[in-house]
Amino acid sequence: AGWPGRGHIVIKDVSASYGSGENAEPALRDIQLEVLPGTTLGICGRTGSGKSTLISALCRVLELDAGQITIDEVDIASIATETVRERIVALPQNALVLPGTVKFNAIVPEGCSDDDLCQALRKVGLLDIVLERGGLEASMTDLSLSSGQLQLFRIASMMLRKSTVLLLDEITSGIDEATEAKIRRIIGSEFQTATVMIVSHRLQAIMDCDRAVVLKGGRIVDAGSPQGL
Ligand code: ATP
Ligand code: MG
Repeated sequence: AGWPGRGHIVIKDVSASYGSGENAEPALRDIQLEVLPGTTLGICGRTGSGKSTLISALCRVLELDAGQITIDEVDIASIATETVRERIVALPQNALVLPGTVKFNAIVPEGCSDDDLCQALRKVGLLDIVLERGGLEASMTDLSLSSGQLQLFRIASMMLRKSTVLLLDEITSGIDEATEAKIRRIIGSEFQTATVMIVSHRLQAIMDCDRAVVLKGGRIVDAGSPQGL
């Protein structure tokens, strides 16, 4: 319990690859990066540059070939993978709907009530839809949420977990501008003190960040204020 605290991320000499053997082409090469607690980092770069891979490394979906990632001075490799994935919340590029109820899909943490879930759903503007289409015990697939609504649903779930580290991978692709603006607003207000890493192709999403890095071929090729890049 208690980890992560404020969400101070330090990535040191990190390399990682998919597959194994000498032929495995590194997808991350010698990454050095620090994200201060409570700040937002934008991650840009072309398709295939390693953005999603970096996110995967941070939530231990992909193990490192070399280097170390610490969050609040704790090496994430020393923490059980389930714990890392529970505490470091990543919204993936393609979020899946699991077979099961709305409540199951919301991954309600211990100590949270149905009422807490309803409140979070109300904050993201989904409570009416959920109630109209069968409530928390309805099958998630019966909700027939659009991709934008599904991301809002994931964000409601993240609110319940009160995560201090959020990783958002291209969550707004295929979403209209208005929904995207809404998602940015909610993240800004509900996760004000969290450390947030945002992968996005959209300039505005990056511009809103405190800092940004550019990846190319698995390396960080540029870093600084988003306006300067
Ligand atoms: P996009 O903008 O298209 O999402 P990205 O920057 O997120 O791109 P990654 O998905 O991190 O790029 O991919 C980085 C490299 O790793 C690419 O060369 C890609 O082909 C490779 N790669 C990604 N996922 C896998 C995988 N599951 N198995 C093998 N190689 C992979
Ligand atoms: Mg990606």
